Amino acid sequence: MKELIVIFCPDCRGKIEVEHSDIVEDELIECDLCGAELLVMSENPIKFKMVELEDEV
Ligand SMILES: [Zn+2]
Repeated sequence: MKELIVIFCPDCRGKIEVEHSDIVEDELIECDLCGAELLVMSENPIKFKMVELEDEV
């Protein structure tokens, strides 16, 4: 059974729909709208944080 979860991108505030099964701790979700990567911190309750893109060389 697929369950869609709607989250809001902290960067562009866009709506991202992900399947519940894609919410896995330590996995990344990518925002379709701005390409930001969100790291899942917790599955229940769903918590995520934006991955800061550092330009390390
Ligand atoms: Zn975004």
